[in-house]
Formats: sequence, structure tokens, C-alpha cells
Amino acid sequence: MGTTDATVKSLRLYNTMGRELQVFTPREEGKVGLYCCGPTVYNYAHIGNLRTYVFEDILRRVLERLGLSVKHVMNVTDVGHLTDDGDEGEDKMLVGARERGMTVWEIAAHFTEAFMSDTRKLNIREPHIVSRATEHIGEMQELISRLESAGHTYEAEGNVYYSIDSFPSYGSLALLDRADLQAGARIEVDSAKRNPRDFVLWFTKGKFEHQAMQWDSPWGRGYPGWHLECSAMSMKYLGEQFDIHCGGVDHINVHHTNEIAQSEGATGEPWVNYWLHGEFLIMPSGRMGKSKGNALTLATLEENGYDPLDYRYFLLGAHYRTQLSFSWEAMDAARRARRSLVEQLASLRRDAGALTSTGDIAGRQPGSAQALEVRDRIDDAFADDLNATKALGLLRAFLKRDDVPAIDRLAVALDADTVFGLQLDALSHQDVDQEIAPHLLAMIKEREQARESRDFAAADRLREELKAAGVVIEDSPTGTKWKLE
Ligand code: AMP
Ligand code: ZN
Repeated sequence: MGTTDATVKSLRLYNTMGRELQVFTPREEGKVGLYCCGPTVYNYAHIGNLRTYVFEDILRRVLERLGLSVKHVMNVTDVGHLTDDGDEGEDKMLVGARERGMTVWEIAAHFTEAFMSDTRKLNIREPHIVSRATEHIGEMQELISRLESAGHTYEAEGNVYYSIDSFPSYGSLALLDRADLQAGARIEVDSAKRNPRDFVLWFTKGKFEHQAMQWDSPWGRGYPGWHLECSAMSMKYLGEQFDIHCGGVDHINVHHTNEIAQSEGATGEPWVNYWLHGEFLIMPSGRMGKSKGNALTLATLEENGYDPLDYRYFLLGAHYRTQLSFSWEAMDAARRARRSLVEQLASLRRDAGALTSTGDIAGRQPGSAQALEVRDRIDDAFADDLNATKALGLLRAFLKRDDVPAIDRLAVALDADTVFGLQLDALSHQDVDQEIAPHLLAMIKEREQARESRDFAAADRLREELKAAGVVIEDSPTGTKWKLE
């Protein structure tokens, strides 16, 4: 696919702002600014959270496939407060720290790393910028000052509040009308608020007695409200206007609604062009949630014998805007289906006699009309609001077509996998083992072992020897690949 304006124009995305499918047009030709709300790091992410990040990864991959240069920014909420306005009790970061005998900073670092490791296992492309809230307190305070100057804030009982009545279009994303706004009191009773939907920008009197992380500020020593970090960091890295903002559907009503009030309140300009929201993963007991006691982690799936990519495959079984029910039976089916695809590709590769690398085949123009047609239909599915589910169905049917040359089926599959991210070519290099002289194969394996035991000198020596024998080695995050020159 090329970078022409026309192809970008064919991408349609469902914009929560306006509740309709819209043709995607980047603000600046060829470039996309993408902001995704990141994890709260006082606990392990559950597989419901991870569903949202896989959806965002599919979005990024589709944009990149269209030739767009994406700048992907994600925050990490490492300030010790909670993100749910209804939460009460203790600072969760502090609870975690006490339970594990770590400092709050160590807790945040530990769960940030655990989250990044989960995303790597799910083959999620890493954001270009992962920004920690605790490293952007200055930017948040500046934003409060701007809002203060623009007349959007008030101080009461030690906290700085955003006055939603100062922002006439408040609630447009969530389709809140004025009556809803007055009825907003169900969330919490805070007598200092002028409007029940007002929210805190800076706390000095927190919800918790022993808020662990605190900073000095013009309004007193305290800590920022949660919504503030996303406005401050997204604008720092993507500019005061940018293209796409994502998160789970639970963010529409409060978090994203408040982010808009902050950002547009400060700049006086429209902020984000496209708002995309992923639906929930649900359990028989309801939505999967950290506090609901029904949360499963990726580690639990692995302990039960599933590859993280089986979970990715399971997620591709439903469009991102529909709820998806988790079950172990569905996981079994996903595992079987993914394995069978991987095996099919290995066998196609054998039939095609293709010893070239995955990249070479994926980029190859299929020779047959059937393959070209299916590739176009798969592209259309991706462009139709990221319908990877449909694309996967098209691919599976196509792979069975014996009338199409194996190399063409392989090319279409590898090309589509640049979006699926299922590493469908995982078995291929083992599969062509027979085609290479046994002593060379032994050297490749020996080199892999040397790398594993971090004996890089031996690995380099073996690479040179293999090269001299006509075998080129390529190390990638998914393992070592080789090809004959
Ligand atoms: P959190 O770490 O709680 O802020 O959540 C991280 C992301 O996961 C957010 O974008 C949430 O909207 C999303 N999320 C939370 N629960 C679920 C769920 N059950 N299914 C899908 N996404 C979820
Ligand atoms: Zn956010």
C-alpha cells in the first residue's frame, strides 16, 4: 500500500465525538499524532486492560500500513491516587508498597515493567514515548495556571477545582445534557464542589490520609488530579492539537470528558479530531475489573498453557467496538486456530520452496489475480473501522484455496500479519531446516545457544563462519532467522 492521500482517505474510523464513521484525514499529510491512556501501575494489568492496548496496536498498525508516520504517546499513571472517582479508602500505591516491602517508587517501577513485558509478549508495538506522570508535575502545574488565568478554576477547602460551568460545551463527548450535569451527584458527595461534576486539578486535602507522593505547588503541597496528566502530557508531546485519542469506553463519561474541558479550556481551541474507544472484555460475572475480583492476568493464561499470542488471536475474534466474553473454551479454540494457521503457513512455505525471509515474501506482489483480489478485500476490511475480525476470516478462507499458488497465499498471509501481529511465520525457519546442510544447521543452533548464554564473542564468530558458508543470520525480537544467500 502506498502513501497517497487517496488511500488514507479510504480509512474510516468511528469517532465517539459525533458517534459516526468518518473518513480519517490527518491534520498534517502523512503524519498522525496518537495518544493512548496508559496503565495505572499499582497492580498487574488484567487481560481486559490488555484488550484495549491490543485494539490500539491494531489501529497503529493499520495507520502505519497506510504509510503514515505515527507518533504514539502513552502515559503511565504512577502517581499514587486512584483513577476511579468512586474509589475510597487508602492510597493503593501505599498499600501495594506495604504488602511487598517496597517503596512506592519501586512499586510503580515494578508494575510499569510488568506492563511493558505483557505488551511485548502480545507483540504490541511500543509507544514512541512512554511518559510517567511523576516526571511531568511541572507541566501539570503550568496547565493549572493557564486554566486559572482563563477563569476555569476555584479553590475550596484546600483543593483546586475545575468549574465545569465555565466551559459551555462540557460533556459533548459523553452526550451529557444539562439535566445530566445537575444529576451528577451520584459519584461522590464533596461539599466543596459548586457543581457535582466539578473535578479536582490539585489536591492538598486528598481522599487518603497518607497520600504517598506529594509535590510543592503554588496551591500548597499536594498532588495532581488524574485527568490532568493526560491533557498535560499529550499536549507536550503531540502539540496543542492532534489527531487521535484512545482509551476504553469507561473513559468517555468522566476522564476524557474532563480532559477535553482542561485542554480546550486552556487553549481556547478544538483539541483532538478523532476519539476512539475500545469495548470491554467481560466475564460471566460482568465487566473484568481490578476491584471486581474477576481479573485474570496474562501470566495466568501462560500458567494454563496458552501462548500470549493465543490471547491476541482470541481478541481478533471480535470487533473492538463490541463487548467480548472471555471463556476458557474460546481460548482453547483460539489456540487451536492460531496453531493451525502457523502450521498452514509452514506447509505453504515448504510447497513454495521459499527460503527467503518473511519480510521479502510479505512485500512481494502476488502474481495471481485471486491473491490480489483477496489482499484488496483484506485491506478494505482493515480500512473499515479496523475490522480485523473480517480480515482474519477472509485470510483463513483464502489459505484453503488450492487453485492459488502457495507462494501467493503465503505472501497475502504474511502481508496481513503485519496488522494481525500474530507471528504466523513462527514455524517457518524450523520448517526449512531440511533444506540446509546439517552441519550449518548445527552451527545456527550453536550460535543461538551462545546468544542465550550471553557468549557474544562465540555468537559473532559463528555468524562470520556461517556468512562465509553463504548463510545470513538475522536476529529479531521473535528469534533468530536465517536465509541462504
Ligand atoms: P487502568 O489501568 O485501570 O486505567 O485501565 C487501562 C485501560 O484499560 C483503560 O483504557 C481502560 O479503559 C481499559 N479497561 C479497563 N477495564 C477493561 C475491560 N474490562 N475491558 C477492556 N478494557 C478495559
Ligand atoms: Zn487519559
